[in-house]
Amino acid sequence: MNAEIVAIGTELTSGAKLDTNSQWLSLQLAELGILVLYHTTVADELDRNIDVLRIASERADLVLITGGLGPTQDDLTREAMAGVAGVELELHQPSLDQIEQFFKGRGREMPARNRVQAMVPAGAEPLLNPVGTAPGVWMELPRTSGEPCRMAAMPGVPTEMHKMFREQVRPRLPGGRQVIRRARINCFGLGESATEELLGDLTSRGHDPDVGITAHDATITLRINATGANEDECLAKISSASQDIRNRLGDYVFGVEDEQLEHVLVRQLIQMGKSFVTLESGTCGLLAEWISHVDDAAACYRGGMVRPVLPQSPMQDARQLQALMLADFVIYVGEEKLESDATGRLVSKMEIGWAAADGRTWSSQLPWSGNPAIAKSRAAKTALNELRRALSQPR
Ligand code: AMP
Ligand code: MG
Repeated sequence: MNAEIVAIGTELTSGAKLDTNSQWLSLQLAELGILVLYHTTVADELDRNIDVLRIASERADLVLITGGLGPTQDDLTREAMAGVAGVELELHQPSLDQIEQFFKGRGREMPARNRVQAMVPAGAEPLLNPVGTAPGVWMELPRTSGEPCRMAAMPGVPTEMHKMFREQVRPRLPGGRQVIRRARINCFGLGESATEELLGDLTSRGHDPDVGITAHDATITLRINATGANEDECLAKISSASQDIRNRLGDYVFGVEDEQLEHVLVRQLIQMGKSFVTLESGTCGLLAEWISHVDDAAACYRGGMVRPVLPQSPMQDARQLQALMLADFVIYVGEEKLESDATGRLVSKMEIGWAAADGRTWSSQLPWSGNPAIAKSRAAKTALNELRRALSQPR
């Protein structure tokens, strides 16, 4: 089954509003394995809407429409659907009762023009909207070749649309009754393609469960989407894929779901009863900022110093701060030095490292010639990650 998404609204075609509904719906359909071939956006004009729906119904097996279901004159989706089907709009009494109830619940009379929201194309089915007034529409259009085209119209208001899709549209789609559970595994220290190589067939198309890779600010996230007849089946698939990922990526895996490196490091240090401080130059306080957002950080974090220029070597300054603050560890990022390489490309260099009160140290000159926007966060994350790795090794 393939699909087209039609977003209706002059606020969208004029550029006043961004069409986020199509993106959301595409992600939902992807989870069901339904391929979206077209996104169409059209203004609030009846003839154009009819054209768009006619074309969509001919080239896609499923057409999801968003917007144009309100009570005002520019809300034309119901009429356009009736137009494509060549039928009249009919009053659906239970929908009208529900809309009247909606207003009564708010202590108001229903304005006369809301009555049009209870009109549906003859032969179509209204979709209840428990959170707003506009019911949706489900309609099947016969086609000369094969299966009918299935068409669902949902409100433009994103929260109303999400609820209607999940509760009323998805169960009508093939695979839509299946349970979906997701999990995320976060990794650091490898690029996207190197990660993919290590994971081998795990990320290949058609693998069950589905495993996708996304990169954000040098952190790699593996997203596991499992579908099954029930929750237990999904959780079993997630657990086996997670184990496979950990076996293949080992120490590159640092956390799950929303966990970042700073959460993991703070947890390790609290468990060990140890404290730490940070010294930053090139990252301008990024480390201190991240750590300040970790719950319980105060239990192990003694503070951070940010200096545009470091008077001695970064390691010497860091050790001095650590001694002064009586901390067990210090993590540091030295000054950022920009140099041109042979091809004239700017390379950012920062010395990063950590030191322990017991004399252990680690440091590295980190060159980065990739996207300059992530140079700072990559340096800060590498410093956090190196201490995390050192602490997780048995001594
Ligand atoms: P409508 O159902 O066309 O009356 O839309 C109601 C409101 O939902 C609009 O005023 C927009 O703010 C919002 N909206 C409509 N379509 C979209 C869309 N495709 N993406 C995001 N928001 C939308
Ligand atoms: Mg509209």
